Amino acid sequence: MARKHREKVAQWYHPPEAEICPLCGREIPEDQRDLHHLVPKSRGGRVTEALHRICHKQIHALFSEAELETDYSTVEALLAHPDMAKFVAWVSRKPPGFQDGAHRSKRRREMQKPSARW
Ligand SMILES: [Zn+2]
Ligand SMILES: [Zn+2]
Repeated sequence: MARKHREKVAQWYHPPEAEICPLCGREIPEDQRDLHHLVPKSRGGRVTEALHRICHKQIHALFSEAELETDYSTVEALLAHPDMAKFVAWVSRKPPGFQDGAHRSKRRREMQKPSARW
């Protein structure tokens, strides 16, 4: 007598849960989601972590691909760097949808009126 196996399939439906950024520990809004290759893709890396765009940008602002490959290919190693730790301490107090406004000032500020903040 053939049994139906269907009952095993649809037992729990998990609604997609908000991903948590392993760097700053905050939820990642859909429009802030970036994938970081722990070992750079150009160096054969395949493992990715979902991060905030701002957290991702910070990684690449601090580390070269060679450094990422050899010394910073884990979240733990990234967080152990003092500059990264400082960034995380700062950004973790921002709301999850916070976008990078801090770093653009350097290049653009002279061109803009002081009151013209985006
Ligand atoms: Zn990356
Ligand atoms: Zn983050």
